[in-house]
Amino acid sequence: MSSLSPPPALKRLGQNFLIDPNIVRKIVALAELGPQDHVLEIGPGRGILTEALCRPAGQVTAIEIDPRLHEYLETRKQEFPNLKLILGDALTHPIDSVPSGAIVVANLPYYVSTPLLFRLLSDRNRFPRMVLMLQNEVADRLVAKPGGSDYSVLSVMAQHAAEITKAFRVSAQCFRPRPEVGSAVVLLRTRAQSGLTPQEESSFTAIVKAAFAHRRKTVVNSLRDEGYDQQQVGEALESLGLSPTIRAERLSLDQFVRLSSLIKRPAEEH
Ligand code: SAM
Repeated sequence: MSSLSPPPALKRLGQNFLIDPNIVRKIVALAELGPQDHVLEIGPGRGILTEALCRPAGQVTAIEIDPRLHEYLETRKQEFPNLKLILGDALTHPIDSVPSGAIVVANLPYYVSTPLLFRLLSDRNRFPRMVLMLQNEVADRLVAKPGGSDYSVLSVMAQHAAEITKAFRVSAQCFRPRPEVGSAVVLLRTRAQSGLTPQEESSFTAIVKAAFAHRRKTVVNSLRDEGYDQQQVGEALESLGLSPTIRAERLSLDQFVRLSSLIKRPAEEH
């Protein structure tokens, strides 16, 4: 056992530690781990989830940004011979230090959950499955369908990259300190192949961002304001059988993919 007691929580690093063993069990069960699996955990904190991941998994790599928590976990390392601890920022730490095929399991720090999600999704070929605790509002955006107010760039980009299920909600009482927002656990099964070339991928991403850039405007006007050719956008919508006054929140993932194949990106300014 560790002789150090865990350091107090730092709000600015999103340190809301899980204290409910039942939630920990449910998260680990959702990850369906076996001895052949390598797990990447982001933000192990005081190690409640790490400990539960080390039991079924073959190997766990855990990246923690807080040197105090890193040091605390180091003192417990002899309890977990299959744990590799890394002191670093999961947003910038080289991802290739984790073997391809790793399963990501994390109670994410909420202040940085969206950029972390985008980073993980941009490397989705490496991660077949991710089980993530997030703000409930972000979980709702991840699974939102066209037509609702939660449907956003994040919904389209995430659903393009993965099949996503909102697994269960988690009450604030399951954490210390308690977070100010509701939480939920999502399961993402990443899509290995999108069927698009890298160039088509980047046109698709640019169109989705440009279409949602001016949410209250029509797709035609929003894309025009982002430098796209208005006439070409109008004709592309027409050829897809879509109204010229349609807004981004009504376009399905598939319609975004088709639209991006019909429209040229504006020339880069610089
Ligand atoms: N896994 C623990 C648990 O469930 O109790 C802690 C989860 S807590 C919500 C988030 C953890 O992520 C904290 O330990 C925090 O220090 C760490 N963290 C915050 N920003 C990070 C970053 N950019 N990279 C790696 N870890 C980070």
